[in-house]
Amino acid sequence: MRDSASPTPALIDQRGVPTHQCVCCGSTIFVIRASFEDYDIAAWFLEGECAGCGCPVTVPCPADDPERF
Ligand SMILES: [Zn+2]
Repeated sequence: MRDSASPTPALIDQRGVPTHQCVCCGSTIFVIRASFEDYDIAAWFLEGECAGCGCPVTVPCPADDPERF
């Protein structure tokens, strides 16, 4: 967590290429919008932000997996 006395770090706009890890801080946790069905994620928006540093990112989905199709 940042406190108000710390300088705001520069954010890198990482949107456009789906990623599993933030290139800015290395975090693999993202803040996204999602909907749930039967206790599991049913759908999610692809735009999100890194939970560690706040950089805007594009999160992956199954269609992005090059080995899936
Ligand atoms: Zn980050």
